[in-house]
Amino acid sequence: MLFNELGLSAELLRAVSQQGYTQPTPIQAKAIPEILKGSDVLAGAQTGTGKTAGFTLPLLQRLGETTPKDGKRPVRALVLTPTRELAAQVSESVRAYGKNLPLKSAVIFGGVSINPQISALRRGVDILVATPGRLLDHVGQKTLDLSKVEILVLDEADRMLDMGFIHDIKKVLALLPKARQNLLFSATFSDEIKRLADGLLNNPVLIEV
Ligand code: AMP
Repeated sequence: MLFNELGLSAELLRAVSQQGYTQPTPIQAKAIPEILKGSDVLAGAQTGTGKTAGFTLPLLQRLGETTPKDGKRPVRALVLTPTRELAAQVSESVRAYGKNLPLKSAVIFGGVSINPQISALRRGVDILVATPGRLLDHVGQKTLDLSKVEILVLDEADRMLDMGFIHDIKKVLALLPKARQNLLFSATFSDEIKRLADGLLNNPVLIEV
């Protein structure tokens, strides 16, 4: 399987080759075409499988296809991660893979000053990567509007549940539009993850690697 067989645009293929990737990993080969189609996805994938590019590349492509013409930049893709380290890492990937596209991203997590994050949000952000607690702080301060989110990603969902984020996740879900694409990535599938997936995903494509 080659990257150019997955339906990705020239801009994204260029970014992929600039990363030095020659072949998609198994999760990428399976997930990218499904996400491009607009399907919800439930993916079992450990760190190190290339899962981040597996959701980031098609997410960037879908947003790039429908850039709002009125100049407004509401958050249209939201990626939730359990830790600030993972948030920073995912945000770096979004930046690297999206470098040839006119999309803006930001990352917000706790333990650092909120003001630079507020400024970044004010400038307009297409893709927001966040940990749940700080995300809700922004919502509480009315510095963040999630009513235009088209794509939601829960990355390492099992770790988010292990860390006790289920209530925060439910609060975030309640703020999102009902019609949206949902992608859930998890290394393990406990009953709790299955319940979360059941409530969240519509006819999901199941991907295991
Ligand atoms: P992840 O599982 O998303 O944390 O990715 C693990 C590592 O694999 C990261 O350092 C990526 O840069 C790298 N990677 C992702 N996709 C590919 C690919 N298709 N070929 C080679 N390396 C990759």
